[in-house]
Amino acid sequence: MKKGKKKILFVASEADPFIKTGGLADVAGSLPQALREEGHDVRLVIPQYRQIPEEYKERMESVCHFRTKLAWRDTYLGVNRLEEDGVPVYFIDNKYYFDRDSIYENDDKHEQFAFFSQAVLDMLPVIDFKPDIIHANDWQTGPLPLLFADRYRQQSYYQDIKTVFTIHNLKYQGQFAGHSAGDVLGVAPHHWESGNIRHNGLLNYMKTGIMYADHITTVSESYAREIQTSYFGEGLDYALRMRADDLSGILNGISYEKFDPKTNKNLAVRFSKGEIDKKLANKIHIQQKLGLEVNADKPLIGFISRMVEQKGLDLVRAVFDEIMATGAQFLILGTGQREYEEFFKAKQHKYPDNLSVNIKYDAQLADQIYAGSDLFLMPSRFEPCGLSQLISFRYGTIPIVRETGGLNDTVVSYNEETGEGTGFSFSNYNAHDMLHTIERAVSFYEQKGVWNKLVNRVMDLNYSWHNSAKKYSKLYNNLTEEKAKRPKQK
Ligand code: ADP
Repeated sequence: MKKGKKKILFVASEADPFIKTGGLADVAGSLPQALREEGHDVRLVIPQYRQIPEEYKERMESVCHFRTKLAWRDTYLGVNRLEEDGVPVYFIDNKYYFDRDSIYENDDKHEQFAFFSQAVLDMLPVIDFKPDIIHANDWQTGPLPLLFADRYRQQSYYQDIKTVFTIHNLKYQGQFAGHSAGDVLGVAPHHWESGNIRHNGLLNYMKTGIMYADHITTVSESYAREIQTSYFGEGLDYALRMRADDLSGILNGISYEKFDPKTNKNLAVRFSKGEIDKKLANKIHIQQKLGLEVNADKPLIGFISRMVEQKGLDLVRAVFDEIMATGAQFLILGTGQREYEEFFKAKQHKYPDNLSVNIKYDAQLADQIYAGSDLFLMPSRFEPCGLSQLISFRYGTIPIVRETGGLNDTVVSYNEETGEGTGFSFSNYNAHDMLHTIERAVSFYEQKGVWNKLVNRVMDLNYSWHNSAKKYSKLYNNLTEEKAKRPKQK
């Protein structure tokens, strides 16, 4: 392998196209390929859930299987493999842990994901791939750096491996009653007693990853700064400040092949930059399909999201009638908390021609909404990176965002003096500030000269993985070159 080219094992609990609940799957499904284009030998490993479609299971080949011990339990561990877009993907097979109705909503999820972390470490000598870097992601893989420090790094096979832990969303931490620390992870008691894996008396997988990885990243520079403060720190800001020297932010990208308006088969009409009429044809199509008044002149605002508090839904709810009074149409796609779903469903009756509420997960419809909307609303309370604003750019749809996390790092608010900008933004988490920003965006929508320039400008932006993959490369190289450096907490 060429100098500076590394072997990297990317470890995640979900990855597109095998299994997806959120943005982590988009990242795990596209970053490894981008890193391979940089010359690294990157491989991915995920659990072999029941929900993975048959077409992938049929393509898997068995690599090995053996028994392993998770604390007191002696259990089967199978490793299967396939190749997807040039990336070797390993699947950890254990029917007891992963052949379940739900992938995350299980009472013993601490044990499921302790098993996953351990299985990844156990399989390495057997699969004939020794990584320079193990790159873990989010709480489900938090135990991996701990197990590595506790009992793998001491073995000569593992000693040169470095661990990276990426936080995609600090809110979801994996917190469990403390007695499971010793029982399931089987680590030395001092990890618990020192507080390294404990927060508020509970075993905390997110904190575990933060405290034991050689380096921690998160998915935008703004979020990396924000999570060190109590407002955004979700209770773990102190741990992040302790590791501040080993914490950095690298913005996510999106797949420019998957989200390509020129080739995406989900679109009614495919289009390129400059083909505003063809973009409008997508708007007409989605208006017809979802039963909105068909009117190319009405501004159409899209909103595609998990319906949870993080996404600013209480702001939308507080001024919903005022938003509709701007004369815009509103198109919602998402599932989540009942209170939000019910609110929008109830409003549907009030605005039959101008509001479409779609309570479901539908990737094809999502593409059609991104392409057909004029504006895309993301008033998030916090947003580690946010992918939807980047997907919107790709389809010439102008984002309206709150200035937080990755939204702050990617959207430049339109400035009518200079004509610069790529969207519309507001700073305070306040419903009327959001409303004012929507009104402002709608007023510019009516000025076709300004608007078309904006549409063409955002279609020229490039938020593919290319730049971010270069930053990860640099991080991997720095880490493997700092041989002596170890995290300070142990
Ligand atoms: P998060 O990871 O917090 O959910 P992101 O903006 O990082 O938010 O990523 C969300 C991804 O999930 C985007 O690709 C978005 O289009 C997609 N998505 C969210 N809800 C739905 C839905 N109901 N149907 C289809 N896609 C959805």
